[in-house]
Amino acid sequence: MAWPLDLPGTPTGSRHDFQWILRHSLRHRTIRLLSGMPVQAIDFRLGPYHIDGAGFHAVAMAITTYHISVQGKDNIPGREAWGAYADQIDTIGIPTVTQISDPTWLEAVLVHESVHALIDLKGPRGGARSQNEAAAYIATALYLLSFDFPAPEGPILDAAMKIADPLKAGMTVDKASEMRLRTVVATNMDIDVDEPSSDDGVRRQPQVTDFLS
Ligand SMILES: [Zn+2]
Repeated sequence: MAWPLDLPGTPTGSRHDFQWILRHSLRHRTIRLLSGMPVQAIDFRLGPYHIDGAGFHAVAMAITTYHISVQGKDNIPGREAWGAYADQIDTIGIPTVTQISDPTWLEAVLVHESVHALIDLKGPRGGARSQNEAAAYIATALYLLSFDFPAPEGPILDAAMKIADPLKAGMTVDKASEMRLRTVVATNMDIDVDEPSSDDGVRRQPQVTDFLS
């Protein structure tokens, strides 16, 4: 059955139950996703960033200890098919099932946002926002390629696919390819290509509601 109907627990249909299941299942699903193959096989460098299994594992541990939060959002403005990662509150936001119905695509979005979390977790590295996004899109592309999943059309993901397809484990994305992708990112996200990345380290303190709700 399609997500979220294959989740444990029996929702009674109340909004409270749905929110509870969504939050906890997303959290567990993200931990499993980051700890398992093929996410652990992702290994590349781009600019100051090293995106690899150890980093994804560190994100999974930070989610386990509630230092990074994973939340379902009813609406993420302007981001219909994507989630978001908020550096300031160390929180991954994922659109609800009404916006993402395909499990593989949901996981690809979780991988994308987890790259932002991985970069944030390592603290400021002097990278640009377009580099941070480029790394996240390449990881998304690598994840989709490992399933032969047809990538949804879009200029940034198209450009990331061209880089990810021949990328071998342990490789560094060459400067020319990096700049091409960053330019596509900057144009489509309406940001400056050199705008600094806002990753500021993970300082979220676990909340009482993390354990009770
Ligand atoms: Zn992103």
